Amino acid sequence: MGGRAAGRSGRGDRIGIVGGGIVGIALARALSQRGHEVTVLEKEARLAEHQTGHNSGVVHAGLYYKPGSLKAELCAAGRVLTRDFCAEKGLPYREVGKLVVAVDESELGALADIERRSIENGVPDLARIDDVGRLREIEPHVAGIAAVHSPHTAVVDYASITESMAQDVRAAGGGIRLGHEVTGIRLEHGRVRVTTPVSDDVFDRLIVCAGLQSDVVAKLVGADPSPKILPFRGEYWELAPERTDLVKGMIYPVPDPRFPFLGVHFTRGVYDNVHVGPNAVPALAREGYGWLTISPKDTWQSLTWPGAGSLAKQHWRMGVDEISGSLIKPLYYGKARRFIPELRMSDLAHKSAAGVRAQAWGRGGELLDDFAVDQVGPVTLVRNAPSPAATSSMAIAEYLLEHHLAATTA
Ligand SMILES: Cc1cc2nc3c(=O)[nH]c(=O)nc-3n(C[C@H](O)[C@H](O)[C@H](O)COP(=O)(O)OP(=O)(O)OC[C@H]3O[C@@H](n4cnc5c(N)ncnc54)[C@H](O)[C@@H]3O)c2cc1C
Repeated sequence: MGGRAAGRSGRGDRIGIVGGGIVGIALARALSQRGHEVTVLEKEARLAEHQTGHNSGVVHAGLYYKPGSLKAELCAAGRVLTRDFCAEKGLPYREVGKLVVAVDESELGALADIERRSIENGVPDLARIDDVGRLREIEPHVAGIAAVHSPHTAVVDYASITESMAQDVRAAGGGIRLGHEVTGIRLEHGRVRVTTPVSDDVFDRLIVCAGLQSDVVAKLVGADPSPKILPFRGEYWELAPERTDLVKGMIYPVPDPRFPFLGVHFTRGVYDNVHVGPNAVPALAREGYGWLTISPKDTWQSLTWPGAGSLAKQHWRMGVDEISGSLIKPLYYGKARRFIPELRMSDLAHKSAAGVRAQAWGRGGELLDDFAVDQVGPVTLVRNAPSPAATSSMAIAEYLLEHHLAATTA
């Protein structure tokens, strides 16, 4: 975590927010509901165009995160806030429940770690399951020898939630400007001048929630280029509609603790489709949703990042495995079939929209696991908001108000 707010802001301040993903819009909502004049600048033609609109749609219950971390704290609080918001607005919220399944004995140690963490994190109604009969009651087609079950893990539509929160912002008088890409940020006498190709504003405070571009925007204000965002694409397959009965809720592998991603899993989405994924392959552009979207600049910057060598050394084996699975369907299928032996290759009917994760890494190639925020004068920079930041968005907003925009909550 970076330093706390250098200055304090008060009612009547003009507050700018860069980024119309779920984190920026949740913050705009929290501020505008407290009577602040808020303007969101979003470069795309609509909200939730990147990570927020391209994810698994899971409301996590906090199983994995290091106890005491911001992720653990804000995920737990964010789940409840998201649930209540969906209830209030009549948005779909389905507690389909989640099983983390150990398929063989080699995974039992890591499963026990997850169980311990879940208990420390206060995951509600978590159950350890060692009885295969009970496992099959929850997921009739699953193969495994043990599992933990989180019945309150839910699914939602994060793009709709963002849109609904944006309506609250507008109703409270806040401005949301689409097609406004922030290209310049300058500090001027304790205030912030923010320019886009079509606008020029001076704000008292600026909060940057730019997801995949968070390091790029941080550099505009002269902040440390580290942590750097290295984009990782996650690809999904969709189960054929006539085979979605293979999955009742969510089936997750026991994740490899050396790797930041959760592994290919099955999720019954809020609209009853079942997707399988995501994997994690290096993206060749920050917003590269397929192998053919290549940004020479982004790729060059990733390859020349001082931590890239050490990262590649640590994770090359996993990288080769994930890339092979992306290019060769039977390999992807093989991973999925471990959990559902009845799965046929043809059940993976088609690929659905991929997502690109903004994962922050330090100069030495070390993963930045927890949420991270920096402060440069009146500019607050959300530097790392990976999963479960969609689950946590409303709690992240409250955290930023309390710790970085203290006087605005008064
Ligand atoms: C494949 C995948 C699966 C995931 N699954 C889950 C899940 O199941 N549950 C969960 O809780 N989390 C999940 N996540 C993580 C979650 O989606 C993100 O943590 C969350 O959406 C981050 O929100 P954000 O607002 O920070 O970023 P984003 O949604 O990426 O929004 C950032 C916004 O900033 C804008 N922007 C960038 N630069 C500029 C600029 N210069 N000027 C103006 N605007 C700019 C972008 O256009 C974008 O709209 C997943 C992520 C991925 C990719």
